Amino acid sequence: MINECYYDEFDKKEGLGFDSKVVHGAMGCDPITGAVSFPIFQSATFRHRSFGISTGYDYSRLSNPTRQELERTIAILEGGLEGFAFTSGQAANMTVFSLLKNGDHVLLSDDIYGGTFRICEEIFRGVGADFTYVDMGDLAQVREHLRPSTRMIFVETPTNPMMKVADIAAISKIAKEQGALLVVDNTFLTPCFQRPIELGADIVVHSGTKYLCGHNDVLAGLAVVTTPELAEHFHGETKSRGNQLAPFDSWLLLRGLKTLSLRMKRHNENAMEVAKWLRSHPKVKKVYYTGFEDHKGYEISCRQASGFGGMISFELDSEESAHKLLSNVNMILFAESLGGCETLVTYPLTQTHESIPRKTCEKLGINERFIRISIGIEDAADIINDLSQALE
Ligand SMILES: *Cc1c(COP(=O)(O)O)cnc(C)c1O
Repeated sequence: MINECYYDEFDKKEGLGFDSKVVHGAMGCDPITGAVSFPIFQSATFRHRSFGISTGYDYSRLSNPTRQELERTIAILEGGLEGFAFTSGQAANMTVFSLLKNGDHVLLSDDIYGGTFRICEEIFRGVGADFTYVDMGDLAQVREHLRPSTRMIFVETPTNPMMKVADIAAISKIAKEQGALLVVDNTFLTPCFQRPIELGADIVVHSGTKYLCGHNDVLAGLAVVTTPELAEHFHGETKSRGNQLAPFDSWLLLRGLKTLSLRMKRHNENAMEVAKWLRSHPKVKKVYYTGFEDHKGYEISCRQASGFGGMISFELDSEESAHKLLSNVNMILFAESLGGCETLVTYPLTQTHESIPRKTCEKLGINERFIRISIGIEDAADIINDLSQALE
């Protein structure tokens, strides 16, 4: 087979800083036409020039140039070997957990994303895998729950919605001693603030729907792997499951990524202001925000991440205050999801954590007074004013 592929050679842009990498991606421009906006290759199949000569593309389920540009870009940003783009964060996580075999055991963060919990309990427990949920901020607890069959440690940091911080490098050491894979869901901080592979993770996953896209207009999932063996598993899975991101959605992600650094900086600044204001409000009983110096994970956050992100959770004085806030916000939107330009308030108990047993929620501190807020990139004063009037 002779390969006549113009899209094979791409500069990994080793010398550039992170903020330049998000703008210029893998190839950045189209190598044939010079189009500065990478083209959307809305084609299911690709013509062969003659027998034995291929452009390197055969059929879009296997590979598509637009999706490939996105996959190479996220691999560059996370510092991994290969990237994979999926139809949602859930699809990315399904492919991660499909590494498990009958009898394998997994340790996960105890306030893991509700959808991840559902994948484990409703799908992979049924095929003979076992799961234990631990406080990843407590390394003794992590060690204590290891079993000879522990094949994977799955960490979210900070967690959703309790904002608990886990020490990625320390957990990576434990995973390596155990011969287990360390998977980090990096949705909350993105590679702009935290690069788990540099800290020892084997796989990074994302709900690309959130900060990476940043505009609340696409569902997407991304995964980055670090070894050829893992890459082979992901290629095989996606080829069979057919869960890859479409060309147009890949392009929207590429477009969103260009402003990732700018947006994250603003989310970070706004969240700091709003968190401080929330803490001073008489109706707010507790604020969960990793940027507070007295947050349990503050020191680890400063060591392993370069920002605190845009997520805050808080507990109000009563259920009534919580319902009032959700009903009375104006500019702020009462909606599920996070990581977009718009500030969103969420009620975890009935929205994101509806799959988690009530008892587990209560134990974690997710009660009827509990609110999660994804701070957008609006004027911080407008976010504060809106919260203030809604709490009156
Ligand atoms: C949203 C989310 C997911 C799931 O992603 P989807 O794109 O909604 O399928 C997984 N992990 C975290 C931390 C999330 O916030």
